[in-house]
Amino acid sequence: MKIVYSRKYEARYPANPVENPDRVRLSAQELEKIGYELIEPDTCSLQNISRVHGREHIDRVIKSGHFEAAALSAGGAIKAAELAREGEPAFALIRPPGHHAAANRAWGMCYFNNMAIAVQKIRPNAKRVLIIDIDLHFGDGTVSIFRGDHEVKVVNPGSVDANFDYLTLNAAGYLKQIESALEDNSFDIIGISAGFDTYQEDWGGLLGFDDYQKIGEIIKEGSKCGADRRFALLEGGYHPDLSICIRSFLKGFW
Ligand SMILES: [Zn+2]
Repeated sequence: MKIVYSRKYEARYPANPVENPDRVRLSAQELEKIGYELIEPDTCSLQNISRVHGREHIDRVIKSGHFEAAALSAGGAIKAAELAREGEPAFALIRPPGHHAAANRAWGMCYFNNMAIAVQKIRPNAKRVLIIDIDLHFGDGTVSIFRGDHEVKVVNPGSVDANFDYLTLNAAGYLKQIESALEDNSFDIIGISAGFDTYQEDWGGLLGFDDYQKIGEIIKEGSKCGADRRFALLEGGYHPDLSICIRSFLKGFW
């Protein structure tokens, strides 16, 4: 399985100190050591960014000095989605994350919506798209971008209904929601916004390594019942165990 990665993701840029280069640097080292192949992405073109974001927002990102990093992150997402479209599952070990970026506004250490840019790039070849966002935080940017788009379904497990109460949710309940999202197997491709801050020792305090492996397995099995096309993009995840969470997820996902 290929891991989309660039040494340029280790660049330091002004960000919340939790979103630091070691997150991806140490994970890349670890994944390469156990035999995953790292492949280099291209920077995302302005044209592809513009399919999702308005000119004003793009200009703001340019002014903030984050454009280069954000465009390379989006480029990594596109590479993973394209590999998946060709039938090869892929994981993009990218930063900055993207799921809090809407068309014209962004927060939470996000600038461009990597998932949305990747999905728009592979359409119309992949017509129906299922996005499952396993980050602790609700992927409001992605939901906002695809609202009203009947061919893209975005699922945030743990946030599926108005009565949602994270504090009464256990790992089994969380996994069950992912299973039900995959009951509909009419999707051409599945994209995972893979944030790992729901991890037991991270902010979310819920999922263990085994749970991440199970999540990967559930998605793989669900994907195989359909078009068997899947990719995942790194979103959040800030604990030093991030590389183990990713490794566990990939063990099931591949
Ligand atoms: Zn998060």
